[in-house]
Amino acid sequence: MNKEAILYIVVPCYNEEEVLKETTKRLSEKLNSLIKKKMISKKSKVMYVNDGSKDKTWNLIKDISEKEKNFTGISLSRNRGHQNALLGGLMTAKKYADVVISMDADLQDDIDAIDEMLDKYYDGCDIVYGVRSTRKKDTFFKRFTAESFYKLMKALGVDCVYNHADYRLTSKRVLDNLENFKEVNLFLRGIFPLIGYKSDIVYYERNERFAGESKYPLKKMLHFAWDGITSFSIKPLRLVTTTGFIILMISICIMVYSLIRKLTGNTVDGWTFLSISIWFIGGLQMISIGIIGEYIGKIYNETKERPRFIISENLNKDNEKNIS
Ligand code: UDP
Ligand code: MG
Repeated sequence: MNKEAILYIVVPCYNEEEVLKETTKRLSEKLNSLIKKKMISKKSKVMYVNDGSKDKTWNLIKDISEKEKNFTGISLSRNRGHQNALLGGLMTAKKYADVVISMDADLQDDIDAIDEMLDKYYDGCDIVYGVRSTRKKDTFFKRFTAESFYKLMKALGVDCVYNHADYRLTSKRVLDNLENFKEVNLFLRGIFPLIGYKSDIVYYERNERFAGESKYPLKKMLHFAWDGITSFSIKPLRLVTTTGFIILMISICIMVYSLIRKLTGNTVDGWTFLSISIWFIGGLQMISIGIIGEYIGKIYNETKERPRFIISENLNKDNEKNIS
């Protein structure tokens, strides 16, 4: 592994004019100290990704990249949301870098964790996940909803790193593989564990936003969580089939109950037939929808065309035969 790798720090920015100056100052200090310690190459840069901001963010980024040699930027044609902006940044940065770290513009994630991330990279890790050790500084609501979400994802069988957002280090080869995940509904933190390779975790404390407001209002957060669940799990579809079976079981109980009522002469005409029919047909319909859902789930997975395997090492040094 080459020491002094070229590091790119990718930072998506949406209406972040209030934080950019301070962020640039802090990241510049960090980069310089890492260059001085010979942990990264002098060619390392911070790459801001303007996600169709409506304020002066892009002008600021242009100013900064003119004045500071270790800063650069790209701009998306319109606002596409955090995940798409991040992907755009990662795919651009990998053309110039050996290793890329992604983080938010508000520096809520402790930038001092970068040193440890790089150490792990030089020890042979391809992905290093930044994980929040505590969420003391988040509001109770944010903490509760976020933690419940991670637990729900786990229950749905999605491989997700607990309390890890999008603060992570990835090597170039991981990003080359990420390019092969063609899905449009992006939930990046679910894709990286699928890519595999050696990975590790670095813990840090999450701070408060030092300026500006959260660009993730509740509506966007719920949308994002729903994307995460529906892009990685077809268990909700299975739930329909299970419910169908449960209703069918109930219909058997109803059948017995209705027949007893009928035999003891405690009913009006037609009631037995109706009550049995409603429950039985209901259960049957749900099971049928579940079965259709099962196929839709399969079609869904096929359309994503995710890679079926990724080879991390090949010991065979012979030349490949070109079959024509
Ligand atoms: N962001 C973005 N596009 C959007 C919304 C947010 O690029 O449509 C960026 C934002 O500028 C920030 C990061 O995503 O760098 C995380 O947003 P924020 O800090 O507001 O989220 P929170 O920390 O409150 O979850
Ligand atoms: Mg934030």
